[in-house]
Amino acid sequence: MAVETRKERLRAILWRTLDEQLQSEAGAIDGSGNRRRLTGPWGAFFDEHSAWDGTTQLSRDLYQELKGHFDDNLIREILLAAADVKISRTTLAKRKIELLQAIAGRHGFEIVASEHHWILRADRGKGGWANRVERLAEPGEAGAVSNVYIASDSTLADTGRMLDEAGEDDLFGALLGIPGCCREAFERSKSLASEKQNDFVPYVLENTCGDMPYDWRLNYTAQYFGFSLLSFFPCSFRCPAAAAVADSTLSMLAGCDAAWAKRFVELQQTNVLYTENGGLHLFRAHLRNGLIAYDARDLQSSEATELAYLLQQGDRLEVSGQHAVQVYRGSRKIGAVAGEDTCMCAFY
Ligand SMILES: [Zn+2]
Repeated sequence: MAVETRKERLRAILWRTLDEQLQSEAGAIDGSGNRRRLTGPWGAFFDEHSAWDGTTQLSRDLYQELKGHFDDNLIREILLAAADVKISRTTLAKRKIELLQAIAGRHGFEIVASEHHWILRADRGKGGWANRVERLAEPGEAGAVSNVYIASDSTLADTGRMLDEAGEDDLFGALLGIPGCCREAFERSKSLASEKQNDFVPYVLENTCGDMPYDWRLNYTAQYFGFSLLSFFPCSFRCPAAAAVADSTLSMLAGCDAAWAKRFVELQQTNVLYTENGGLHLFRAHLRNGLIAYDARDLQSSEATELAYLLQQGDRLEVSGQHAVQVYRGSRKIGAVAGEDTCMCAFY
């Protein structure tokens, strides 16, 4: 089907769906004579704050069932989608899709998988978080994954899939619960980011004004070390709308399992040295007066690169700007990294 025809069809379906939702949910007039507003992810088309209510209760039973089968980020995403806060997208292999399908059946949420299966290309130095599509998979090919859309009901999950496959990033982003300012920033940077490894860290940093450290709630780079409160790149490391999303997410996770939520906070209250090809390096030590004093236990690298080795030899990082750091051992300077592919993201 031609792209334009497909988009027209998609818009027609979307309007019809919204119309039905408006009539059933929001069309009714409440006791005060006001028109009720759309709830859940649908509301994000009109009011981006509507769904991110931190008092929403996530299902502890579902959480218990997901633990051990999926990673922390994906568990967060499944819980939020099942609670009708947002829709979520992930990529999964067939066996995991079957497992999630069975869990969805027991807990009353829906998943939809893309028809196509893909083989991903491993990233360089990103610990697997920036994998990109390499090619379409052959039928039954080992290692193939599908895009999976998770939502509280099948209309939402289907709509998410259609919007994503039609490249309607803005509308899809609204259903994913991404604030408008962050969706606009994504739109502006996506062609530049795709020339490298589809990583937005340099563009987020460029948009971030003021002195380090930045707002730890927006430390999306923690994702490269396991998980973070956000599922999207904020427009800046000081974006108030994204910080509100992180706050709501944290209180919902804490309501589900306080110790688990604390691990998100601890991983985000860190400093991360990002490089395009030399790995990402996380320091669980404060930035004070432009210096991070650390020992080997405070340092974690996404991959064993030359830079990781250099940092292991050092005990102090001197941060001279967003794109320049020097590594010291005692009083001796043992190395330096600088340039546009180096990004110091300090949150702690
Ligand atoms: Zn923003």
